[in-house]
Amino acid sequence: MTIPEPPPATLRLKIDHAALAANWRTLDRLSGGANAGAAVKADAYGLGVTSVVPTLLAAGARQFFVAHWSEVAPVLAAGAPPDQIAVLHGVNTPEDVAYARASGVVPVINSVRQAALWHEAGGGLCHLMIDTGMNRLGLPPTDIGDPAIGALDIDIVMSHLASAEDDTDQSAQQLDLFRSLRTGVAARRASLANSAGIALGSAYHFDITRPGLALYGGVPCAALGGDLAQVACPQAMVMQVRSIAQGAPVGYNATFHAPRPMRTATLSLGYADGALRCWGEQGSVQYAGRELKIIGRVSMDMIVVDCTEAPELTEGDFCDLPYSLVAAAEITGLSQYELLTLLGRRFAR
Ligand SMILES: *Cc1c(COP(=O)(O)O)cnc(C)c1O
Repeated sequence: MTIPEPPPATLRLKIDHAALAANWRTLDRLSGGANAGAAVKADAYGLGVTSVVPTLLAAGARQFFVAHWSEVAPVLAAGAPPDQIAVLHGVNTPEDVAYARASGVVPVINSVRQAALWHEAGGGLCHLMIDTGMNRLGLPPTDIGDPAIGALDIDIVMSHLASAEDDTDQSAQQLDLFRSLRTGVAARRASLANSAGIALGSAYHFDITRPGLALYGGVPCAALGGDLAQVACPQAMVMQVRSIAQGAPVGYNATFHAPRPMRTATLSLGYADGALRCWGEQGSVQYAGRELKIIGRVSMDMIVVDCTEAPELTEGDFCDLPYSLVAAAEITGLSQYELLTLLGRRFAR
């Protein structure tokens, strides 16, 4: 028997493609003489590579960054040319090298060991990540003179800022070090800035910038505040509406008791979808311009909201989870990055 297509999802992640394209164009403009690329790792920060990459390509993006080799296929399928996809984690195994060479997708070399692996298989065009003080992943400056690095054919020499969104002198220190190190590396292009780095000014722009969060409507620093539009809007269906008496408990562990007779709605959205329990305290959903407070504990697959003020709300209606990222981060205590990347697999994207 053939398995039928599933019915329409009761969870939707609405993507505002016009806002996404506008955000990329804004970041490209703010990158001055540099071109803006796009970080699309982690399934485009949870929004879905399949829908995000074609929009970014149409807007003009020409360089895409993923973290894992497992993330490459959907970016290729979405239309990005292989030589415009960079894999930030680089080549860690001979299988990684074989995949890179077969696909034409470009690894970011992060160490002498990765460079040696790459050469052993015949090498080819690559990028180089130099660590300028984050001490995470990337070539230590002391290894730049290694012959395995000198023999690389490098497109982009890059480094990554640890604190670009903070008022700290670490960024300037990293910039100084990157400037002095890149002169010792033969590369076609240079890149340093992530989203917040773009706002640090033209000295940080080099040839290509690498925005991620800001493409998707995140605001990493006040300087970008007015320029970016919300892109993702999670929506969940109402499955049941009920009337409960004053004093009635709601949800696991009865953490909420109705202070008055209430009308409540149960939505098909839970912590397994990324609506973590930290939404419960101050969170709400929106329906037809009204805020409906989340009451009781968030369950794995459900939340309950007070819909007393929305008497016309009925089963089958959809509510929005307010996902303006600055405000949502304040409500939940989560970072804007986490709010995007934790959105689960049950949303129709
Ligand atoms: C994730 C990532 C980016 C994008 O950072 P945002 O802060 O989301 O703009 C850029 N460069 C590297 C190396 C990254 O890992």
